[in-house]
Amino acid sequence: MNPKRRPIIAGNWKMNKTTVEACELVRKIAYAVINTKDRDVVVAPPFTAIPGIIDVIRDTNIGLAAQNMHWEDKGAFTGEISAEMLLDLGCKYVIIGHSERRQYFGETDGTVNKKIRQALNKGLLPIVCVGELLSEREAGKANEVIERQVMGAFKGVTAAEMQKIVIAYEPVWAIGTGKTATPDQANEIHAFIRGKVKAAYNADVAEGLRIQYGGSVTPDNVSQLMAKPDIDGALVGGASLKPESFAALVNFK
Ligand code: PEP
Repeated sequence: MNPKRRPIIAGNWKMNKTTVEACELVRKIAYAVINTKDRDVVVAPPFTAIPGIIDVIRDTNIGLAAQNMHWEDKGAFTGEISAEMLLDLGCKYVIIGHSERRQYFGETDGTVNKKIRQALNKGLLPIVCVGELLSEREAGKANEVIERQVMGAFKGVTAAEMQKIVIAYEPVWAIGTGKTATPDQANEIHAFIRGKVKAAYNADVAEGLRIQYGGSVTPDNVSQLMAKPDIDGALVGGASLKPESFAALVNFK
């Protein structure tokens, strides 16, 4: 963590929680983080729970994210959700390119790029996920994969726009597996990403960029991860579904 960058902890609820369950979860989280002012707290519920949640988080310090969106304004895209619809519901952030979207729903660096540009055009703040597979890490290709994903994602994105983006480094082998990257492994990739952004933009953009780590983050390992200079937050799946564990994560020391 670098004191110049405000930490950002986000919970990705994936395909979990009905509206009633989601409202109860976020109410408990809001209560537990009421005095947490020095970091950004974000929840990403399923689309269906967003209208219910927005009333609960009004006047709290919790920001709302969607888990995905489409890159077009509107039209014949059955089952999709547009940026404008998310803004209409009160979303501030949108997660783009989560590895589960890439793995199961055919997302590519190209579609991730289109979504990022649309989100920025419409005024949503993208949380952009990148991460290598276990086979890619074992083949010594982690940096190559991350570089390709980062460069592909931000094609055509300006320096001013980059200041609105959060990157989440999520090694696919660490997601939902209980296998966390070590703080050193994670920091190494974060520093690599920051270096690539510096080369593609400039030092100010790179220094201001917040990079979250994601992959089996829990209250037990968050402090060691956050102690690293290039780790600016966490994107959390499993441990964000329980109010006690998410609040403990947000309130890391
Ligand atoms: C995620 O899906 O973004 C994630 C990091 O999941 P988990 O914390 O469960 O590994």
